Amino acid sequence: MAWGDISLGKDPRWERLTQGKWFCGRCNNPHEGIFDLGCVRPEAWPDGEDDIRPNSEAQHSTHFLSEDFCVLHDEHFFARCVLLLPIVGAPNGEKFGYGVWSTLSRKNFDLYLEGFDSGAYGDAGSWFGWFSNSLKGYEPTTLNLKCQVRPQDRRQRPLIELEPTDHPLAVEAREGITLDRLLEIYRLNGHELRV
Ligand SMILES: [Zn+2]
Repeated sequence: MAWGDISLGKDPRWERLTQGKWFCGRCNNPHEGIFDLGCVRPEAWPDGEDDIRPNSEAQHSTHFLSEDFCVLHDEHFFARCVLLLPIVGAPNGEKFGYGVWSTLSRKNFDLYLEGFDSGAYGDAGSWFGWFSNSLKGYEPTTLNLKCQVRPQDRRQRPLIELEPTDHPLAVEAREGITLDRLLEIYRLNGHELRV
């Protein structure tokens, strides 16, 4: 527990990152603290079909994309999830989140839909899925890594657990990332903290 927590707390970049708003040197927007990087659609969703529909249409749609659900040609089903990466030495256990998509079977997709409005999944356990985004800077690709999707109560997005392999992303999810790596991930995705 104690390893590293003092050093990160003293790192001026950490202070800058976590104490309220910081101005991004790349996208020129203010960011607040450690923020998630989200993918608005799974990789398989066709380019150019950028119409984001309301979640409420999921029950009756055979081909659609919303903030939390995606159905591709009535054949492939996806849920928007979060993959958390622990930050090594973070004083309060802060984590960085990738907002990413996973496939679900039709059956589990229906279960996910059923519980969505009440926000209660009880002991639903976890559902198998294929990781459905190609994140920047990973070799080999993160697309189609095996994962488990764990629905969360209280309308939190489901959490993704990657199969425990030696893929760099699975290693980061398991062992955490350094502050340097976090800032590199931001840079790779168009954001830069300048101290
Ligand atoms: Zn930015």
